[in-house]
Amino acid sequence: MVFESLAEKLQGAFKNLKGKGKLTEKDVKDAMREVKLALLEADVNFKVVKDFIKSVTDRAVGEEVLQSLTPAQQVIKIVNEELTALMGTTQSKLKYASQPPTIIMMAGLQGAGKTTTCGKLGQLLKKDGKKPLLVACDVYRPAAIKQLQVVGEKLDIPVFEMGDQVSPVEIAKKALEHAAYYTYDVVIVDTAGRLHIDEKLMQELIDVKAAIDPTEILLVLDAMTGQDAVNVAEHFNEQLEVNGVILTKLDGDTRGGAALSVKAVTGKPIKYACVGEKLTDIEAFYPDRMASRILGMGDMLSLIEKAQENFSDDKAKKLEKKFKTQTFDLEDFLEQLEQLQKMGPIGDLLGMIPGMNKGAMKDVQVDDKDLNRTKAIIQSMTLKERQEPSIINGSRRKRIANGSGVHVSEVNRLLKQFEQTKKMMKQFGQMEKRMKRGGGGF
Ligand code: GDP
Repeated sequence: MVFESLAEKLQGAFKNLKGKGKLTEKDVKDAMREVKLALLEADVNFKVVKDFIKSVTDRAVGEEVLQSLTPAQQVIKIVNEELTALMGTTQSKLKYASQPPTIIMMAGLQGAGKTTTCGKLGQLLKKDGKKPLLVACDVYRPAAIKQLQVVGEKLDIPVFEMGDQVSPVEIAKKALEHAAYYTYDVVIVDTAGRLHIDEKLMQELIDVKAAIDPTEILLVLDAMTGQDAVNVAEHFNEQLEVNGVILTKLDGDTRGGAALSVKAVTGKPIKYACVGEKLTDIEAFYPDRMASRILGMGDMLSLIEKAQENFSDDKAKKLEKKFKTQTFDLEDFLEQLEQLQKMGPIGDLLGMIPGMNKGAMKDVQVDDKDLNRTKAIIQSMTLKERQEPSIINGSRRKRIANGSGVHVSEVNRLLKQFEQTKKMMKQFGQMEKRMKRGGGGF
């Protein structure tokens, strides 16, 4: 999970504070020492950590905080605010050109995820009603052009390419003519990377920049490389003056060093975060939500947005009606499970709920395997059984268990859970009716 080990350590640092009614300056300083260690272990830049701890401590040892009724919460609030500020305070949006097309030049080292991210960004913009064009300017990495074409095909986004015998500057220029002719409104240019920064690469990027005058230069950085990513960012920024960063592989980054340092070190904001290999695994980067996630305060806003993307209003209304009339059956239950899985790994979703850190999650015991087993059980039922679970007798239970490769007791448990859920819905329905009549209820 994103930032898992950092989150755990920071929450550990605040545990001692929470147990105390009143805080002394020493309590705060002790906690800050732990926070400092946690940040350094997370590979956050040393100077960034030093400044951060100083800002938090200055604010936290003030009279107002220590004398307040909830000093521990106040300290956590300050840490939350300072973490948010560290990552840029507010969401940094993509800049669009006043006259289309908007030209986005992507830069970064080989393997950072540049080509994949071109597709992800294109997908996001397309969903937003834009007409993007992908441009293959990486003429050095074997198969980079083909890779971009495959990505484009998957997303139904056209790719402009001229093979690998033409210079990137030439390709980029021709791509702009093509985009103007066919009225594309966003052009995303995939450029070449190298394993390490070298002067020739930089010069080529500078030439491409001069030739196409991009609206935005976005630097693609691999979050898992921690401080190395930040050094790369400094170097690229010096030579190329980038507008922002897209951080990839955040799904595998349990430490968070790059995410927490890159803005403070380079002054350039993180605009997007990529959280998996699928072409939909990209999200706008919100410093405040990220800070809350790190502090185990959850990220309900992202969760709600994910839910809204996957559940249409129409479906939600239909479901509500089924709840109210108690006609919710196992067929609906199966559909809900599938929707839930579309939102991403269940562990990641739970991590967005306040208080759901790793420790808490152990008790919840839902994982994708459980969901898949439950799905398999329902899928082994006939349609009639799903609609009318009361007909599922002993021999049917045995057949379903055989069909889904589970023990009969699991089928029994699922049916029992379903019955309980229905009962609960009935009670809620009655309570709501009583409340409407003005009789109270809760
Ligand atoms: P490029 O050399 O910079 O163009 O990198 P690629 O786009 O070819 O990506 C390199 C590898 O990183 C590929 O295997 C991608 O699937 C993978 N990758 C890219 N972004 C992410 C991400 O956000 N999460 C994960 N887990 N893998 C990613």
